Amino acid sequence: MISVSRLISKRAEEGDRVRYSGLKDRYPSVLVFNVTRNCNLRCVHCYSGSGTQLFQDLPLSTWLNAVKQASDMGVKHILLSGGEPLARRDVHLIAKEAWERGIRVELSTNGTMLTRERLEELRRYVDYVGVSIDGPEPVHDRFRGVEGAFSKAIKGIRTSREMGIKTGLRFTLTRENYKYVDFVFDLMMKEGINRVCFYHLAYAGRADRKLDIDNSMRVGLVTKIIEYAKRGEWEVLTADNPVDGVLVYSLTRNPGILELLRKNGGNKSGERIADVTPDGVVYPDQFTPVPLGRVEKLRDIWDQPHPMVEKLRKRRTLVKCSSCKFFDVCNGGLRGRALAVTGDLWEKDPSCYLDWIAEIDDRNKGNNLIPSTET
Ligand code: SF4
Repeated sequence: MISVSRLISKRAEEGDRVRYSGLKDRYPSVLVFNVTRNCNLRCVHCYSGSGTQLFQDLPLSTWLNAVKQASDMGVKHILLSGGEPLARRDVHLIAKEAWERGIRVELSTNGTMLTRERLEELRRYVDYVGVSIDGPEPVHDRFRGVEGAFSKAIKGIRTSREMGIKTGLRFTLTRENYKYVDFVFDLMMKEGINRVCFYHLAYAGRADRKLDIDNSMRVGLVTKIIEYAKRGEWEVLTADNPVDGVLVYSLTRNPGILELLRKNGGNKSGERIADVTPDGVVYPDQFTPVPLGRVEKLRDIWDQPHPMVEKLRKRRTLVKCSSCKFFDVCNGGLRGRALAVTGDLWEKDPSCYLDWIAEIDDRNKGNNLIPSTET
């Protein structure tokens, strides 16, 4: 995840302390807990293939134990996701356990269940609530498969903010909603929302590659997002495509940005982040179907470590684009996307749009993207 606003301005938010710390820990600092596969909606781009069928969730004790292990490992952030995490009636107890152990908790939700009652249970333990919005009401409801999903999400956002919880938007860029980036910022202005994260599509679950934008569109969209971030009015982030950082640098030419990006180090799936599915299987992230172990033995995965963790740690020797001059700020992008498209975990990420950045760069003649001190 890249905080475009942090790169462009000096404004640092809580998450940036971990994001740009440059620290290399033995264990991940961020864990995603997909605590359920149940969901009241059925989104076309759901990476976990969740839905309204009644899936059997893992017991609360398993997740509490996972939080305890995370705490022992020094994990800084836990992201509670799903399915719809609020489809679990006891999700606040998982948040409470983490909060009591000093772990920052974020909730990733479709927003439709953010009632005053549920928020009362959660408010002490949750640092941030991210609500997914896919575009204006008809577009959002079509994406989400349920009429009324948009109005419920907006109501949930308002209630959450009224109760003093930091609440922002999550927007996944797809071929069917890419034109609504302006709508997202308009909505933030209208509702007084001050944080947004734009997600590049990762091909997992129901998120088919056919839904994705192509890289020529991508460079234009991310440029637009960067322009909005330059206004300094919002916290603006992008996720799941670290080449966005290279674009920020190419548009600003600020060596300080390159330095921050190096500290961030790009994609760190399986190193700085990992994911636990509703079935208790641990993966490098939400999109890379390479199992590392079971949640009951979370810590062992990095203590032993698992052979895939070792490979990911030395991915520079494996990823096919490792001769790229920006490898140290990107780390080769999303391995899951390379695997989904090519069948090879170490292939180049198909959503890398560095060639398009270079083309723009060429047009601005004389501005060599790589400073002369770089090799
Ligand atoms: S070529 Fe590889 S390392 Fe370079 S920007 Fe693209 S994905 Fe990242």
